[in-house]
Amino acid sequence: MAEDRRAPLRYVVIVAALALASSVWFVLWATVGAGPVWIAYLTMPLGGTVAAVALYGLWRVVRPDPVARRFWRGLFVGTLFMTAGYLLMAVNAVRYSVGDDTPDMPLTSAACVALGFGLTMWAVARVPVGATGPGERRRMNLDRVIAFLGCSTLLWHFGLAPMLTAADPWSPQTLVLIGLAFLMSVGGMTKVSYLGDGPVDRTALRLVATMGLTAAGVAVLATTYGDAGGPPSQAIVLPLAPLLLVVAVRVQWKATLGRGRVSRRSSPLLPYLAVAAVDLPLLALAVGEMRWTDRVVLAAAVLVSVLVVVRQFLAFRDNARLLRNIRAQEERLQHEASHDGLTGLANRAMFRGRLQAALGGGESATVLLVDLDDFKTVNDSLGHDVGDQLLVAVADLLREQAGAGLPVRIGGDEFAVLLLGGTTVGETVAQRILDALSEPIGAHRLMVQASIGIATAEPGASVDTVLREADVAMYAAKERGKAACVRYLPGMAEPVLANMRLGGELRRAIEENELEVVYQPIMNLDSGKLVGVEALVRWNHPERGLIMPGAFVPVAERTGLIIELGRFVLRETCRQTAAWTAEFGRDAPEKAAVNVSARQLHDPDFAAEVLAVVGETGLSTGRLVLELTESAVLRGSQVSQSLHELHRAGVRLALDDFGTGESSLSLLRAFPAAIVKLDKSFVDGLEIDDAGLEARDARQAVARAVIQLAGALRLDAVAEGIENEAQAEQLRALGYTQGQGYHLARPMSAGDLTALLARQRRALAAG
Ligand code: C2E
Ligand code: MG
Ligand code: MG
Repeated sequence: MAEDRRAPLRYVVIVAALALASSVWFVLWATVGAGPVWIAYLTMPLGGTVAAVALYGLWRVVRPDPVARRFWRGLFVGTLFMTAGYLLMAVNAVRYSVGDDTPDMPLTSAACVALGFGLTMWAVARVPVGATGPGERRRMNLDRVIAFLGCSTLLWHFGLAPMLTAADPWSPQTLVLIGLAFLMSVGGMTKVSYLGDGPVDRTALRLVATMGLTAAGVAVLATTYGDAGGPPSQAIVLPLAPLLLVVAVRVQWKATLGRGRVSRRSSPLLPYLAVAAVDLPLLALAVGEMRWTDRVVLAAAVLVSVLVVVRQFLAFRDNARLLRNIRAQEERLQHEASHDGLTGLANRAMFRGRLQAALGGGESATVLLVDLDDFKTVNDSLGHDVGDQLLVAVADLLREQAGAGLPVRIGGDEFAVLLLGGTTVGETVAQRILDALSEPIGAHRLMVQASIGIATAEPGASVDTVLREADVAMYAAKERGKAACVRYLPGMAEPVLANMRLGGELRRAIEENELEVVYQPIMNLDSGKLVGVEALVRWNHPERGLIMPGAFVPVAERTGLIIELGRFVLRETCRQTAAWTAEFGRDAPEKAAVNVSARQLHDPDFAAEVLAVVGETGLSTGRLVLELTESAVLRGSQVSQSLHELHRAGVRLALDDFGTGESSLSLLRAFPAAIVKLDKSFVDGLEIDDAGLEARDARQAVARAVIQLAGALRLDAVAEGIENEAQAEQLRALGYTQGQGYHLARPMSAGDLTALLARQRRALAAG
């Protein structure tokens, strides 16, 4: 039912309106006279009826919980009895009121009300306090006895005692009722002070307990005005009881529907307040007739109890502070358990928990797995401090770009973003992250790229499945080249897993001689003579056929096998070059270039190993070129040391893919390069003959700058990726003398190159 989803306000409004109307009526009646006095007696049965209806409604809402059901059902029955009692009283008043004089409460009516009170008390008494252990229960019971006695003494002295000793004695039924009401309110109040958060809302229970205080109001009116206190009691004071009740109903209703505020366990100070409360009647006695010597004793007793209370209060404050500290510490521990220490992002455990909760709770979720490319290079070359700072910068960036998603550090250089709900936002967020990463970040202004895998899981899917899918998509992104994002698609796992298997197979491939080195000639652009070769690795896979280095060199880098692979290519190239030298003498390739990965450079034995291989094969060091990319040469003392050592030994170093990096120019100063290789991207389109001269100039600008720079620094320049004669022509015009590309010669097997060399020698001999 729709109305069951909201705590109704109408009962509170009705009862409040009734109470207000009857107060207004009373004022009119007392001042200008407004009808017969029995009207005062109508409010209670009416208010009680509304409260009973409200209680019945609440009872149906809290029904699932046995404790709450028992409590509110008890209150409902109690209210029925009390309402019946006041109804009888009203009927009696209508019948027997004479002028402003009202009749005494009939015995049946008093019995009904007393029974109602009793039931209500019983319901309050049965609410479990939720003590956690026997020790706590004992202490709590002691506290409650203290609080109960203290408050009772106060009420006894100022309320019950004057009633009992009044000159005009009270009817026994009224005395019993008021006594019960006192007991209930004091008992209830002391009880709720110790109640933890449970099925019965503490605030609601406190409101119920406060109902008893209306009886105290009645007593005060009666002691002060005698019979004349009857009408104001009925019209003004007593209607507060059903009002408190319907407010309590609403509070509980809200709490049950989960919309109420969370009430805290109240302060354990109540017993001490009770001790202080007992001092009040004592002081009141001291004002009366008493010997001054007794007064001294009494004053001392009061003072001692006040000091004890103060002392206790101080201890309480200290305890509270300690508790606060412990709680803060707990929160910190909790935070540490669920967050990453370095970046402050949520950690893997929290990520899995959130994902599990979402999927289990019928929500769909999208996972973005963000893996930094080449982070290990940064860590190895620039040190762990810089690496850590970079991770923190990446974390900040993710926080900014994740939007409503939860950014997570899964571990190492792997991050994630968890997006709940929508399936379409994944790409948007991923693209935002990649865009943000296209600028240098962190204090060191480093460039990092990331590969992002996206996977969406439907409600009920397993956490492991979606994580595996995101992982597969991430690998697919890595394979597609750096700085890409890929969404998982069914059927994607197979090729990705096959490639991941490549890593495992690569070791075998090296041992089984499945790797082959092919050689691409580097030509003199003017004479067309072969001046050198670049060694390029190939994998002749028994099942998959020829595999290009783009597909397995990254795998080799990730697994560390690049060290062995590199060793093989170097040894093979040196051996082959030495063989060509033996066969062709001065017509053999003058230099042989080998590509070197960052991972190899970070091997402390790298330089020594290279020199050893060169020595073994009998090649002169001056004939060997090592091609390095800029990211591999990122400053790092280890790398720089190795490179200088090789340089001193005569090995030539080439900067590969020159011009594509961020800091090519500054690098040239610190790094003993002998050759720059103009990247293919600057050769592409060089030949297009635009109508506008400026457009072509712009295209040539980098190629021109690089050749000028090479000239100034006395470096050789090689243009890469020449695919047609027009490009070769342009490059010649710019001053390039060496080039490499499909137009000049494709990479070829050692045998083919031997044949080429033989042809070239014959041609030279003939020419
Ligand atoms: P790279 O060092 O820049 O090598 C040049 C790449 O461009 C080679 O691709 C070559 O075949 C290709 N290429 C040459 N001329 C042309 C042309 O006119 N047009 C086009 N479109 N491409 C041309 P490949 O052999 O696939 O090698 C790719 C990359 O793999 C190399 O780029 C190098 O970074 C890496 N690599 C190759 N062999 C090894 C190796 O033994 N060790 C290491 N560490 N990396 C290697
Ligand atoms: Mg190269
Ligand atoms: Mg290159």
